[in-house]
Amino acid sequence: IGRLRLTDIVKEFGQGQQTVRAVDELVLDIEPGEFITLLGPSGCGKTTTLRMIAGFEEPTSGHIFLDDDDIVVEPPNKRPMAMVFQSYALFPHLSVRENVAYGLTLRKMSGAALKEEVDLALTSMNLLGLADRAPNQLSGGQQQRVALARAMVMKPKVLLFDEPLSNLDAKLRVQMRLEIRRLQKRLGITSVYVTHDQTEAMSMSDRIVVMNAGRIEQAATPDEIYRHPASVFVADFIGRANFLDAEAVSVTPRADGHATARVRVLGRDVEVPAHPACVAGAGVTLLVRPESMRLAPVEVASPGDDVLGDHGRVLSVVFYGESVEYEVESEYGTVVVVVPDPSTESILAEGDAVSLSFNSERAWLL
Ligand code: ADP
Ligand code: MG
Repeated sequence: IGRLRLTDIVKEFGQGQQTVRAVDELVLDIEPGEFITLLGPSGCGKTTTLRMIAGFEEPTSGHIFLDDDDIVVEPPNKRPMAMVFQSYALFPHLSVRENVAYGLTLRKMSGAALKEEVDLALTSMNLLGLADRAPNQLSGGQQQRVALARAMVMKPKVLLFDEPLSNLDAKLRVQMRLEIRRLQKRLGITSVYVTHDQTEAMSMSDRIVVMNAGRIEQAATPDEIYRHPASVFVADFIGRANFLDAEAVSVTPRADGHATARVRVLGRDVEVPAHPACVAGAGVTLLVRPESMRLAPVEVASPGDDVLGDHGRVLSVVFYGESVEYEVESEYGTVVVVVPDPSTESILAEGDAVSLSFNSERAWLL
């Protein structure tokens, strides 16, 4: 059915002083049908992890279970998995149809049965009209569709993706995200997707695994990762973040696993949700996303918001149409504020004095 379990996976490359630990005691359970994304900066161990799942790389230690079988020593072709690469990796001398059929012919499928399966895969990826073309007669997006069809036609228990959209232009990338996700949901195939692009991860995943230097920083839903990051690294890597130095007056555990903290920011007390590991005292960091920051011309603070008691000055104004983005110089350093759907009259100018506030329910104490 496609449940994957990675237990204490370590992968080292090289020997002696030259040893690089690419993956460091990674523990991860992936549910059947789940779309999980490994996300992190270049070199954090995403591809190595994926290649160990696929069988192209053997872990230095640890085990990989597919359903109840330990597959860690199974060769790649014995694993019921298919992989889609950034480079598409199509056979250049074969037509689209032959590329998609290739794996099934290795399984000795032929004749009407083969044609039926291949047609189904080509149809679902909108490729039927291109079936007789060679890969070099296709656009990048079309080639990646062929690679997807070729993977799906094998009916794998697990689909693996390594940055499959990185070679496509921005607009096509957004469209392909949705297409891959729709297909994956329809087929219900457990999927592990590698990317360094956080918006890609946010828009596709059931769960995101944020990796840093071979380790898992956090594994959680996109919503949880964005709102309640486990570390400054995660908060900084996903979305944009303002980090405000604060003092925690008190921290009270909550039934939902988080905590509630009273924090002092410039002499005012505000109640905010907090990471359960927070302790009272100085030197805590309050995360406020740019869209949860508020600003108002200094005479008119926005009522209902928790005013920081600090005045700032607008450093820059960028108009994006659907939003306007300010950088504000303040006692916290440069604070980024995003105001959605701005009316023309409300847009402030460079140099304007403003008061800063924020939506305390959306803040998060780290
Ligand atoms: P990512 O996909 O997150 O960018 P990788 O998994 O490719 O990261 O690499 C993780 C680390 O392992 C990096 O430091 C990389 O240089 C190293 N590494 C990966 N593959 C090899 C290899 N075959 N030989 C030596 N070092 C490797
Ligand atoms: Mg990689």
